[in-house]
Amino acid sequence: MSDALEQVVVIGSGCAGYTAAVYAARANLAPLVLTGAMPGGLLTTTSIVENYPGFAEGIDGTDLMIQMQSQAERFGARVQFGSTVEVVDLAERPFKLTVDGQEVLAQTLIIASGAGHRHLGLESEEKLEKKGVTYCATCDGALPMFRDQPLVVVGGGDSACEEATYLTRFASKVYLIHRRDELRASKIMAERALGNEKIEPVWDSVVTEVLDVAEDKVTGVRVKNVKTEGESVIDCAGVFIAIGHVPNTQIFKGQIDMDDAGYVTRVEGSRTSVEGVFVAGDCSDNVYRQAVTAAGMGCAAAIDAERFLAASD
Ligand SMILES: Cc1cc2nc3c(=O)[nH]c(=O)nc-3n(C[C@H](O)[C@H](O)[C@H](O)COP(=O)(O)OP(=O)(O)OC[C@H]3O[C@@H](n4cnc5c(N)ncnc54)[C@H](O)[C@@H]3O)c2cc1C
Repeated sequence: MSDALEQVVVIGSGCAGYTAAVYAARANLAPLVLTGAMPGGLLTTTSIVENYPGFAEGIDGTDLMIQMQSQAERFGARVQFGSTVEVVDLAERPFKLTVDGQEVLAQTLIIASGAGHRHLGLESEEKLEKKGVTYCATCDGALPMFRDQPLVVVGGGDSACEEATYLTRFASKVYLIHRRDELRASKIMAERALGNEKIEPVWDSVVTEVLDVAEDKVTGVRVKNVKTEGESVIDCAGVFIAIGHVPNTQIFKGQIDMDDAGYVTRVEGSRTSVEGVFVAGDCSDNVYRQAVTAAGMGCAAAIDAERFLAASD
């Protein structure tokens, strides 16, 4: 770990972080990229990415991230594997970071720490992830395994309604399972979902098990009605869990403006409420959450950081 004063430190190595690193490196800023516990970010947890521009046949998620890493390194980015920022002090520049117990000083910071999906917390859910259990309809909905099949969406908010509506393009039927007797979603989203003849709401219900671990693929869900305690099984080929996201921004809490859910607020472009701190990707985006949007935001953050440094010289 370098104890020198860094021009640009990038926290995170997903699409946002590595794209920021490519741009900052090409601007001769030799950015330091701290990968965190998940080098390459969330895309390394999926197989084929079919909607990242430039890959007509799709590309394996891990391969794509290795390409981004190599591209950043080619221009002088320094990638510090496994390094997790434990504490930040944004009170004054240079910013102080504690990384694996050591101090790093940074003139500018690009926060690209991503967001995790909320899980149901079921053992069967974990075992069948990528075998029919997914957390992103936009990413996985069009996969052949889900076409013309009954699917389940779990959740009752805007995301759940949007995912359910989107999935009706591919599925034979979509069951929308919600723990209450009405949706939390905005009126327009709820009406759109409930007005879709392919969507059948399953009220007052929670998924207690994803079936079938023994078959190593999703064949259905076991559902409990929270009012009657009655159990039933819904046959389906896929389970889309849309119960929210948790941005990885806890270490910045109290030092930078964020919304109630923890997404870092962008003030102008990628700027944050702290001068010299920029943000990119899913940790600041509760709407799109896509690889290409995260990459685009990473590009913007690096350009903003570069201009900020130039103006401060
Ligand atoms: C299973 C799955 C499939 C997907 N498929 C697609 C798809 O097909 N197409 C698509 O466009 N999108 C897809 N997505 C969404 C896509 O992965 C995300 O939108 C994208 O990865 C967001 O990039 P990011 O850089 O903002 O964050 P992430 O990829 O989440 O990366 C966050 C990075 O921050 C690091 N980090 C976190 N905290 C710290 C810390 N304290 N210190 C240092 N580093 C830290 C992590 O280690 C990680 O490297 C998929 C997501 C999942 C889960």
